[in-house]
Amino acid sequence: MKPHPRAVEPLLAEIARQSLTRLRRTVEEACELEGAEVAVDGRRLINFCGNDYLGLSRHPELIAALCQAAARYGVGSGASHLVTGHGREHELLEEELARFVGRERALLFSTGYMANLAAITALAGRGDLLLLDRLSHASLIDAALLSRARLRRYPHADAAALAHMLAEVRCTPAADRVTLIATDGLFSMDGDVAPVAELARSAARHRAWLLVDDAHGLGVLGASGRGTLEHLSLDPTSVPVLMGTLGKALGTFGAFLAGDRDVIELILQRARSYIYTTAAPQPLAAATRAALRILQREPWRRERVLELTRRFRAAALEHDVPLAASSTPIQPIVLGDAEATLTASRRLAESGFWVAAIRPPTVPRNTARLRVTLSAAHTDAQVDALVAALARCLAAPRRA
Ligand SMILES: *Cc1c(COP(=O)(O)O)cnc(C)c1O
Repeated sequence: MKPHPRAVEPLLAEIARQSLTRLRRTVEEACELEGAEVAVDGRRLINFCGNDYLGLSRHPELIAALCQAAARYGVGSGASHLVTGHGREHELLEEELARFVGRERALLFSTGYMANLAAITALAGRGDLLLLDRLSHASLIDAALLSRARLRRYPHADAAALAHMLAEVRCTPAADRVTLIATDGLFSMDGDVAPVAELARSAARHRAWLLVDDAHGLGVLGASGRGTLEHLSLDPTSVPVLMGTLGKALGTFGAFLAGDRDVIELILQRARSYIYTTAAPQPLAAATRAALRILQREPWRRERVLELTRRFRAAALEHDVPLAASSTPIQPIVLGDAEATLTASRRLAESGFWVAAIRPPTVPRNTARLRVTLSAAHTDAQVDALVAALARCLAAPRRA
């Protein structure tokens, strides 16, 4: 066997030394089980760290739509959207998504990661300026790096700091360059909501683009599930480019960008993560269309997950479980130390709950956390039992 060009073992050892090794667990069964239960490593756990907020991922109507579309169109798309891969289900889903979020046009992507790459690289390039929230999702940061634009990050959710940065830029020779502001709508690791109204005002004043990544808000927030913008009572057009994912509240897979006709056309013409990749399977688009129908037909799912969120917080308060300032289904319990967080996560698994330990670099140093997420698929009793288990795990001495 040839020796490795570079020893890998010390690199892995260093990751382990920092308690940052990531472990995969294999889900062996889900649909046959109740609610949010999954079979993992031969055991049953209640999943409290997924993003299936509305409990749609195993819905029989989605499964039926997927199977019927597969029988009609086949599984693979066989090519990119711009060659021969764009099908009727894609086209209809784009129209329905655009209507749902109140924009002229939507464009489908295989993943939210790729949608963010597309939006940022299509709208900004070398010499332009990108302003990102410090806690923006990794895909926005990677997109910023790939675009070759200058990247500055403003303090988390601090619209005043952003306004200050924009005012500074205006006085420089680069004032005519494109500026793009990007932020999560609902922050994935903290559960708080970006000050989109203020960001949109600043963007408009400085003629900057604003991209809101609403991966976690779509389907969950707002009176009719239209996401962070609806939650904040904002006109959809106040945000020029909206990114939404389909793999979270909608329970399927994929993502989309929405905006006015021309912006979307420009992204379609320019974005390499749109052009040079195979279109997602049509059966997935058909399943997402079913999810979108259920989402609109059954507002109880959204009400239910928010009701469970309130229940979780009230019980946690009673049991002295530390909470973050979040009123959304993302409820982080920040412990700080990566190893202590891992230990807590393991203990929860022993009690039958799957709650992932989220560690750097996913979150900033010394802010490792248990990221609890609620789903409409949970029962009251499961939430109560989770809080009791959390209280036990956190009260026990953290180190032997
Ligand atoms: C999940 C997520 C993405 C990526 O979406 P995928 O479809 O999973 O690639 C992007 N942004 C945020 C904020 C996310 O939480």
